[in-house]
Amino acid sequence: MIYETVVGLEVHVELSTKTKIFCGCTTQFGGDPNTHVCPICCGMPGTLPLLNKEVVDYAIRTGLALNCDITRKTKFDRKNYFYPDLPKAYQISQLYLPICTNGNFEIEINGRKKQIGIHEIHMEEDAGKLIHDESANHTLIDYNRCGVPLLEIVTEPDLSSSEEAAVFLEKLRETLMYINVSDCRMQEGSMRADVNVSVRPAGSDTLGTRAELKNMSSFKAIRKAIEYESKRQINILVGGGMILQETRRWDEAKEKSFTMRSKENAQDYRYFPEPNILPVEISEEKINMIKNNMPELPDKKRERYIKEYGLSEYDSSVITSERNLAFIFEKSVIICGKPKEVLNMITGEMMRLISETGQNADDVKISPEKIASLVNMISEGKINRTVGKEVFEEIFRNDTDPEKYVTEKGLMMIEDTDLIEKTIKYILEKNQRSVEDIRNGKTKAFGFLVGESMKALKGKADPKTVNELLKKLLIK
Ligand code: ADP
Ligand code: MG
Ligand code: ZN
Repeated sequence: MIYETVVGLEVHVELSTKTKIFCGCTTQFGGDPNTHVCPICCGMPGTLPLLNKEVVDYAIRTGLALNCDITRKTKFDRKNYFYPDLPKAYQISQLYLPICTNGNFEIEINGRKKQIGIHEIHMEEDAGKLIHDESANHTLIDYNRCGVPLLEIVTEPDLSSSEEAAVFLEKLRETLMYINVSDCRMQEGSMRADVNVSVRPAGSDTLGTRAELKNMSSFKAIRKAIEYESKRQINILVGGGMILQETRRWDEAKEKSFTMRSKENAQDYRYFPEPNILPVEISEEKINMIKNNMPELPDKKRERYIKEYGLSEYDSSVITSERNLAFIFEKSVIICGKPKEVLNMITGEMMRLISETGQNADDVKISPEKIASLVNMISEGKINRTVGKEVFEEIFRNDTDPEKYVTEKGLMMIEDTDLIEKTIKYILEKNQRSVEDIRNGKTKAFGFLVGESMKALKGKADPKTVNELLKKLLIK
């Protein structure tokens, strides 16, 4: 029998609002342990949560980007469980009336488009972090992350392979970054997913029993885990066994999953409506206002770059893969009007420098005005491409003014043909043997003389001019 894989994802993203969901503490990542905290996010008795309006706006924006219905009267629920990273012993979340439902998100797999259903999106608060200090046999608690706003995006079980899951997550990440709701840094835990996997006979329309892999935070691990799980389950079925519904843990080092708890031991969260927060009514005007202020989404941008700027599909998707790159590209092109040149500069030099300096593309701050003026200098022949690279690096690293830099360092192209001619004559005199060789039909020496002349001119002459003048002088 042939089996197919079925995957559904519960993706958690930390929102990049300035403050936490129910208090005024900063959401900034890092910081000394327990410095971004107050009595509210530490769950002190007698404190009351106050909902951060921005979180609701961010959730609506996300819902609209994922084509969801926005719940006009949404409310919060209390999810009770005890764990040391959760000082109140309950999490304020949404169960009954999540803010967004019934969406869909289009992905493309090998040129084929596929709609992935979005079951719901709900708002909730993040928990703190446990730090297991094995050397001291202690566990330490950092509450800085407590109360950081989260969206949980729950897909329908519509994904059919590790490849589809990875493509979905990549595109979701891209979109969330474009609409500016999250920085989606997997390595900082601001995007992580619970991965539900089952298998069933190919073509069947009933779902198999699933295993859930909790809290995965790398695309690579998610891919591997889905492939492993799918094989594991197929092997059990082929051997006549039964799949147990359970939560499993992915061990990255061993590349295997292990049982954490079975359904029989599933927790009962004793959900009930959160009594300290009123239901939130969302008006039509509010939704429309957010709709009208929605930034252009990546798919639209890709299409527009192809049509407006004549980029290839490939270039267009490279440059839109990171919002910040697209932003820098677009601004520079508006100023200088040369999309191909700007594109080459960003996908070439800039990408190289980003990886060399180990930065996030997201964090790069570079002036589009300066890029535009560099592009203009190159295309007007004021400087050559090699010098262009040097100047770009200066702009990238030190925010140097390109015109000033080129003037001060004397990097302008030499347009004075007298000077070029004098230089070539000097080279010819110094290399009499090469001149002889050329006259005896050994053309190889010509290239050598061009090279020597260019070197003497510090690469700042137009090679075409040097070629022509050299020919002219050799004939004499
Ligand atoms: P819970 O919240 O208890 O984990 P849900 O029924 O809400 O359970 O499902 C959560 C996620 O699991 C969703 O993303 C859904 O698509 C996925 N899912 C549910 N059933 C299956 C299945 N049989 N195979 C794969 N994924 C599934
Ligand atoms: Mg779940
Ligand atoms: Zn606080």
